[in-house]
Amino acid sequence: MESSLNTPVGKVIVVGGGIGGIQCALDLADTGFYVYLLEKSHTLGGAMARLDKTFPTNDCSICMFSPKLVQVAGHANIEIIINSRLLDLQGEPGSFLAQIEKQPPYVNEEKCIACGQCAEKCPKEVPDPFNGELGMRKAAFLTFPQAVPLKYALDDKHCLYLLKKKCGICKKICPPQAIEFDQQPEMINIHAGAVVLSAGFELALTAKHGEFGYGRYQNVVTSLQYERILSATGPYSGHIRRPSDGGFQKKSPGFNV
Ligand code: SF4
Ligand code: SF4
Repeated sequence: MESSLNTPVGKVIVVGGGIGGIQCALDLADTGFYVYLLEKSHTLGGAMARLDKTFPTNDCSICMFSPKLVQVAGHANIEIIINSRLLDLQGEPGSFLAQIEKQPPYVNEEKCIACGQCAEKCPKEVPDPFNGELGMRKAAFLTFPQAVPLKYALDDKHCLYLLKKKCGICKKICPPQAIEFDQQPEMINIHAGAVVLSAGFELALTAKHGEFGYGRYQNVVTSLQYERILSATGPYSGHIRRPSDGGFQKKSPGFNV
């Protein structure tokens, strides 16, 4: 029997909100499964959101990618759970019980209208992980402009209120009063028939200990940092500059930068 889009025939947990997890969630949801899409950070996107252009068409990565983000965010059969981690999994194919921990964003996701005023007024600047720490962002932040969900969050490792009970500017100025400093981690139990692991990758910084001098020389960067340098939305607006002093790379004969 054919199932309609809005009639889930089962539940699946997809762990990882990068391009692999997103495509998997869309494929499953389109065939009628109800999908819980777990992502450890504040937004879906993973590594692909950080790329500049992609092979072989040389298209802008985020231009290709953002329609999928919109699709996944609006799909009736997909529930996105950000800031989450799979803690425990029991069971067998057909019946799994997953225990998930959801970290607080300190912003009420229902109320936040993404006006950006908290980030604008926040006095605390910190290295921006999305840009490979080559640029700065505020302790109140949106990971990138096309983020899904489009909700701001507070960085609990740097926010002055969360660390020292100082500042609190964002709470005073937030129009819909979405800032909630007292949010706590949440435990969620999900019963599902299948689990797909799409955890992505971490950069292997072997060069840190070796011949390339990563970590010793500021102008030695990882491939993902270089993607952010190339990107028009990156720390140098797409200009190839040296991280050490912000200077331009010297022109080589026949190579115009
Ligand atoms: S000021 Fe409030 S509504 Fe505006 S982006 Fe920040 S948390 Fe969201
Ligand atoms: S309370 Fe924290 S996030 Fe809010 S403005 Fe101050 S430092 Fe920034």
